[in-house]
Amino acid sequence: MSSGRERRRMNSRISGFYKQGVPDRLDEIVERCDLSAEATEALRDSTDLDLADRLSENVVGSVTLPLSVATNFTVDGEDVLVPMAVEESSVVAAASHGARMARETGGFSTSVSGPYMVAQIQALDVPDPRAARVRLLDARSRLVAEANDQGVLVSHGGGCEDVEVRVVDTPEGEMVVTHLVVNVQDAMGANAVNTMAEGVAPTVEEITGGEVSLRILSNLADHRVARAHCRVDPAEFEREDADLTGEAVRDRIVDAWAFAVGDPYRAATHNKGVMNGVDALATATLNDWRALEAGAHAYAALGGYGPLTSYEVDDEGMLSCSIEVPIQVGTVGGATHAHPTSKAAMEILDVDSADEFAGVFAALGLAENLASMRALVTEGIQSGHMKLHAKNVAAEAGAPEDLVDEVAARMVAEDDVRQGRARELVDELGA
Ligand code: NAD
Repeated sequence: MSSGRERRRMNSRISGFYKQGVPDRLDEIVERCDLSAEATEALRDSTDLDLADRLSENVVGSVTLPLSVATNFTVDGEDVLVPMAVEESSVVAAASHGARMARETGGFSTSVSGPYMVAQIQALDVPDPRAARVRLLDARSRLVAEANDQGVLVSHGGGCEDVEVRVVDTPEGEMVVTHLVVNVQDAMGANAVNTMAEGVAPTVEEITGGEVSLRILSNLADHRVARAHCRVDPAEFEREDADLTGEAVRDRIVDAWAFAVGDPYRAATHNKGVMNGVDALATATLNDWRALEAGAHAYAALGGYGPLTSYEVDDEGMLSCSIEVPIQVGTVGGATHAHPTSKAAMEILDVDSADEFAGVFAALGLAENLASMRALVTEGIQSGHMKLHAKNVAAEAGAPEDLVDEVAARMVAEDDVRQGRARELVDELGA
């Protein structure tokens, strides 16, 4: 995917990043990404209650999530470090691992269908719904012009570009639903398209002879789809201590994907893995992860609920991995510039359009899913997960602050990460 601008040249491969202390890690990121003083300061001191109060309603505190950086990503030929805000450490580890496997064959290539969102206008009690549909389509130019009169997006090169009309059969009878197809450029676009829908509603009433009720975007953003692809050499799956060959792991991943195609119970968890990455990047950059969740699952359900990614073996024996997912995010607008830490996250990422941003989301979702598929078909998800989760288990079991690390390390060494064992170790070490 081309943004018309060269990304900053930087190497995202940071060996042993996870073993460094936080200050060293931060120094590393500041240097590699050439971060501004403002972004560096925001990362050093990321809690501010006044800021929290400005962002939301009825604020009494703030829940601080760790801001992490996933390494090893190459997207469209450029290295990228990906900020992720999530409470589950295995999510960040999986993203970096998935990106590492794809890196050997050039990383991820991405494409985006364009930044198009849809606003819906619901007309009720229309006497002749099918004829009204035709009248609305005939009035396309007028509706587009009125939508673009609302004073949003046109000055940024976007705006309403098309009108679609559907007659929808519902338990309350037929409704005429008008879609404004809007180029939202670099915004997520919800407020912008809602303003347009409200603006043209009186004209829709006039043309249909019905009564307009809802005027709101659809989060099923199927005009705003991001795709990513990568190939993985089966050699990447080889482990000295494992029974399975790389080819066997590759084939099991294809079988695991087929399981998700055939079974919605599996597909839901498969897609949850994709969204582990997508949501964490959305949270780090204060994009609306609820919109992304709604869009992804609705998209996965078109034609019967299924997986957002797919896995095949190509003619060179490589695992060919693809994802297609609606990505409704902005580099401007919403809360994206309201928080210094999310601005710093955007500076780390260094993308300059919503389309380029969407491509990174798709690559991240695919990397996340790829790494969890590999773990699931081999040692299982728990051994890695519980190692990374050990500090939480220790804290939950009542380990005092100064013992958390040691209790966690002992449990990992013993391969016995349980609250009961944590309590025994607290008694032992605290005595
Ligand atoms: P917004 O209201 O801040 O509008 C974007 C603004 O950015 C516009 O005023 C536009 O003029 C300006 N802009 C500057 N440069 C631009 C560029 N290059 N491209 C495009 N616009 C540019 O934000 P929004 O993106 O319209 O709405 C996003 C917010 O809406 C999010 O906070 C989301 O949580 C919220 N929201 C979501 C839903 C939903 O998903 N169902 C519903 C309502 C609101």
